[in-house]
Amino acid sequence: MTPTDTAVTSNPVPFDEAIARYDPVIGLETHVELGTTAKMFCGCPTVFGADPNSAVCPVCLGLPGSLPVINKAAIEYTIRIGLALNCSIATWCRFARKNYFYPDMPKNYQISQYDEPLCTDGWLDVEVGGTTVRVGIERVHLEEDTGKSTHIGGSGRIHGAEYSLVDYNRAGIPLVEVVTKPIPGTGPLAPAVARAYVAELRDLMRALDVSDVRMEQGSLRCDVNTSIGPKGSAQWGTRTETKNVNSLRSVERAVRTEIERQAGVLDAGGRIIQETRHFNESTGTTTSGRSKEEAQDYRYLPEPDLVPVAPPPEWVAQIKADLPELPAAHRERVWQELGWDGSSAYKEAIINAGALDLIAETVAAGASPEQARNWWMGELSRRANAEGAELGSLTISPEKVARICGLVDSGALNNKLARQVLDGVLAGEGTPDEVVAARGLAVVTDTGVLAAAVADAIAANPDIAAKVRAGKTAAAGALVGAVMKATGGQADAASVRELILARLGQS
Ligand code: ADP
Ligand code: MG
Ligand code: ZN
Repeated sequence: MTPTDTAVTSNPVPFDEAIARYDPVIGLETHVELGTTAKMFCGCPTVFGADPNSAVCPVCLGLPGSLPVINKAAIEYTIRIGLALNCSIATWCRFARKNYFYPDMPKNYQISQYDEPLCTDGWLDVEVGGTTVRVGIERVHLEEDTGKSTHIGGSGRIHGAEYSLVDYNRAGIPLVEVVTKPIPGTGPLAPAVARAYVAELRDLMRALDVSDVRMEQGSLRCDVNTSIGPKGSAQWGTRTETKNVNSLRSVERAVRTEIERQAGVLDAGGRIIQETRHFNESTGTTTSGRSKEEAQDYRYLPEPDLVPVAPPPEWVAQIKADLPELPAAHRERVWQELGWDGSSAYKEAIINAGALDLIAETVAAGASPEQARNWWMGELSRRANAEGAELGSLTISPEKVARICGLVDSGALNNKLARQVLDGVLAGEGTPDEVVAARGLAVVTDTGVLAAAVADAIAANPDIAAKVRAGKTAAAGALVGAVMKATGGQADAASVRELILARLGQS
């Protein structure tokens, strides 16, 4: 049958309208490059950014006569992931040959797993909008990564290129694929659930120390499946698969965009065809890729060059016993140590900002939980957002934030000066104390200087001074402002106010 959905002219339906009439189902396939020191089936190092084809050997180049050997560490990492995702671990399974032609795949087949994955049937809980969504995990399997082609000339895509270069350094790096079960029932939260799931999976991989999970370097990549069906119908729609989505924000946008586009097609009387789609980062839209209407025949066969994998139960039990504290448990513990109940939306905001550990470290360095939260969720979040950076990548340590809090507590800095100190620290001018010294930012505590400034302010504003003398202490604000101005904002406003009131006989 020929695909028809692309033949239908349709406009995307605004998200809220689409979600009012259609129920979305999502499903995520996530590839994670494992951080083993050697590749999956040979001893070549796993390196990023090395000279092209400098980390290759006959095995990962697929030269005739070479034979693969399974990397035990990759199996162990995969079992760790499977256990952390509450999966069953196979007692016996095999690798499979997946046959297809691709220029950056040296053997013309990929060693993967097919009907006998190492880990099956688990789940991962994610928190979204104050509710917990349990995402079912279909399977976790192990495969080898391909090489990387670069198309020179034209638009950078293979079509229209003058020639292509291929780098096999990545070929054979162990790759884990985590496939979710379809996730129905999330309605308007579907985009946020997809994002939260990928974020949680990323944090899990970090906690398990199996990958450096740098999405921008492609060590975690997502295929995002989306379908919609008429609201209330038990029947799910046909899914599309948006390939290689490379940031959390894009995962969320890809789901949203597909829901809007598919609603447009269905509204116009069209039909969704099962296909892969590409997500365009700059426009936020998806474009059609390869049709999956006819299942491609990969001629899977059990890999004859490898022995089956049969992890001994004692080994699996040991790996389970050695699992580190997982992100959800970690967050719960840190939250309680900070002494907070807080609403879940508030908690989610802190967690989503990646601020929880930073706050805890700032508290450990001497700040109060509230001060630490205010700095990280206020001033520092604003600056991170402005730069489009993550909080953790700001060039300020929790210790330095704690020191600024300490300077405010002791009265050496007021809030305005503290923000200037922050500027200095972020600009690389040194520690908070060094910035205070170099920029001359300490609060004016010289009582002689302050007394003179207060006297000047009163003399310059006789009407206001008279009001305050007569008991209208609220009018003192204007005098405080004048003193603050005279001291370049470097006085402590509360003490200035006290000085003024005392001088005008109001205390
Ligand atoms: P493929 O090899 O075609 O990508 P997989 O089985 O590896 O197929 O992955 C399919 C993904 O699509 C899974 O994450 C699955 O949960 C998801 N999925 C299946 N049906 C639907 C659907 N109707 N809507 C959205 N996602 C779906
Ligand atoms: Mg797939
Ligand atoms: Zn090699």
